[in-house]
Amino acid sequence: MKKTCIVTGGSSGIGFSIMELFIKNNYQVFNLDIQPSSIGIFKQCDVTNVKQVESVIHEISNKHTVDVLVSNAGIHFSGNIENTNEEEFDRVLNINVKGAYAAVKAVLPSMKSNKAGSIILMASDQALIAKQNSFAYNMSKAALASIAKTTALDYASYNIRSNAVCPGTIETPLYHQAINNYCARSGENKDKIHQEEAELQPLGRLGQPEEVAELVLFLASDKAKFITGSLQVIDGGYTAQ
Ligand code: NAD
Repeated sequence: MKKTCIVTGGSSGIGFSIMELFIKNNYQVFNLDIQPSSIGIFKQCDVTNVKQVESVIHEISNKHTVDVLVSNAGIHFSGNIENTNEEEFDRVLNINVKGAYAAVKAVLPSMKSNKAGSIILMASDQALIAKQNSFAYNMSKAALASIAKTTALDYASYNIRSNAVCPGTIETPLYHQAINNYCARSGENKDKIHQEEAELQPLGRLGQPEEVAELVLFLASDKAKFITGSLQVIDGGYTAQ
């Protein structure tokens, strides 16, 4: 029988690659996103709406045991503390952190009754290090690392594992949007900034979403059955510097 995986934010970028790889590996994959997906079973869902997340996940878990949750939906926002207004602060925290709170909480009853489960939170290298001009985003990703660890401790007795994946710079629509915004503000040339970003990485290139998906598949699998409460860095060496 196929295992069931719920992905949030699976319509684009890293989430899309995760969906592709899990489907290829014989998982039944549900995608909770605000924009439709071309693959998987799409469920229209805004992760900032806790009641909506609960109701969509309950609908799924009434029919299927949830084996894996990948809480991945997220947005990037640039700004130091002074250029982050209250509305922007709330938006980043609501999507990146409250969305994960809602999804994790909603899958736990199914995982607890099955005495098994793997929860993967898409954090960032910015859960481990701060980057300039990234006040709210840095904070949101550090919070996800904390959710991964706390959930690991609180639910280890149910054989539920919880880990955070911490990607460095990965070439996705979110990355391109962030570069476009920066270039629009600074007047810099996009190709030049893109090249500089690649050169900042010890491996000399940006990561690809498919590479992150492979790590997520591993963490979801029994091969990772002794791994919980961990922060898994996949960043081409960036945070080793
Ligand atoms: P992306 O913009 O390509 O995809 C994000 C997806 O989340 C989209 O499908 C979008 O519709 C969905 N989404 C946004 N708001 C939502 C909401 N309120 N409810 C439901 N879905 C929503 O981004 P990506 O680069 O693939 O990023 C995915 C995750 O990986 C994010 O959490 C991001 O912070 C993290 N991450 C990305 C990078 C990177 O360099 N790209 C690095 C580290 C971490």
